[in-house]
Amino acid sequence: MTALAELTTLKVGGTPSVLTIASTEDEIIEAVQVADETGQELLIIGGGSNLVVSDNFSGPVLKIASTGFENDSTVCAGAWVTVQAGHNWDDFVSDCVKNGWLGVEALSGIPGTVGATPIQNVGAYGQQVSETIAQVRAWNRETKKIDTIFSANCEFGYRTSIFKRHPNRWVILSVTFQLPLGELSSPIKYNELAVYFDKEIGDRISAPELREGVLELRAGKGMLLDAQDQDSWSVGSFFMNPRVDTPPADAPAWPEPDGRYKVSAAWLIEQAGFAKGFGLNDRVTLSTKHTLAITNRGSATSSDVIELANHVKNGVKEKFGIELQPEARLIGCALS
Ligand SMILES: Cc1cc2nc3c(=O)[nH]c(=O)nc-3n(C[C@H](O)[C@H](O)[C@H](O)COP(=O)(O)OP(=O)(O)OC[C@H]3O[C@@H](n4cnc5c(N)ncnc54)[C@H](O)[C@@H]3O)c2cc1C
Repeated sequence: MTALAELTTLKVGGTPSVLTIASTEDEIIEAVQVADETGQELLIIGGGSNLVVSDNFSGPVLKIASTGFENDSTVCAGAWVTVQAGHNWDDFVSDCVKNGWLGVEALSGIPGTVGATPIQNVGAYGQQVSETIAQVRAWNRETKKIDTIFSANCEFGYRTSIFKRHPNRWVILSVTFQLPLGELSSPIKYNELAVYFDKEIGDRISAPELREGVLELRAGKGMLLDAQDQDSWSVGSFFMNPRVDTPPADAPAWPEPDGRYKVSAAWLIEQAGFAKGFGLNDRVTLSTKHTLAITNRGSATSSDVIELANHVKNGVKEKFGIELQPEARLIGCALS
């Protein structure tokens, strides 16, 4: 049986009792119903890129592997594209850029599946997936019916949504995107991208060029999956940027609509004394390219990951009084 260590990008996690790979909506719903009727706790996975699974895990797993997308050409307002949940996210972004469907090009290179993107409202380089999602179709495990949930009802926020708040309620079957048409990217919103292209915030460049730039920037940070680059054997950012009333002096911070500030977790970690590459042993370290990623150097256990995460979290708490929260979902393990 394939272990979670082989099904996740952090490459840790025990062996499931049963692994069901579902390639159609009917197969997904059937697998979920069987588990729900027998009262088994089912772990649903897509690309396994946002999961820290305990080595002791031994429950049933459903891997969502439905692929394909359709553009409804009867809709005049841009592209109206419905994508199956198990479709690879970056393959979809690549097709969007080729077809002149705008609004997701800055999300190039994020690993995982389309169906997982609404869950934590994935975001990068000034774009969030919630800006282009029109609706989500999902199996409701409580009512045993399919729900169509419009974007306005998804309760999207920074790395959160109604799906993240209620992790066992829905299984996402497909996501429909409404994407403007054009050749130029959406306006650049992220300073690092503007600097990279020698442009101003608000400028637009060709969407393919923007995608290539994002992929290059991500690779330089170990944030692009690469079997040869152990800095990418991670869940991406391990911690979310915390929200605070008053950011520490000099900390990169962004004002939020509620009057608070979002502070750079990477900065807090560095300033608390944890440099790139820091580790408690040689099995798990911070990425050598980015302090926000906890990386498996080849033989990590889930306990190694949790130990380092706790150490960093406690260090930041001691220095700044700020409590970091994990961005990834922890299964069978928890931070103290
Ligand atoms: C190198 C690297 C870089 C990353 N960069 C970014 C980034 O820039 N921005 C960002 O936001 N994230 C980033 N991530 C995190 C991750 O890629 C995203 O959160 C991604 O959307 C997870 O997709 P997945 O299919 O791998 O989900 P999984 O890890 O398989 O699952 C994540 C959660 O979603 C649930 N789930 C998955 N599919 C479904 C479904 N169909 N229905 C119901 N529940 C489901 C799972 O049960 C789990 O709780 C990065 C990760 C890595 C490894």
